[in-house]
Amino acid sequence: MSAKCPACKKAASKDGNKVYPFCSERCQLVDLGKWLNEEYRVPGEADESGGGSEQGQGPGSSSNRE
Ligand SMILES: [Zn+2]
Repeated sequence: MSAKCPACKKAASKDGNKVYPFCSERCQLVDLGKWLNEEYRVPGEADESGGGSEQGQGPGSSSNRE
């Protein structure tokens, strides 16, 4: 019985193969690297620049005593 290596699409044997379904350790690393690359590709959404709204200088904040 054999499966196709996800990395190189060659036949990978299951017998004595510690990196099954990959055909070799190298192919396993290749596939792993692919996964990591996709994970690292995070859309740069949170761009909080120029959002200083926490300064106590708004109108009505200084005349508050009776
Ligand atoms: Zn392979």
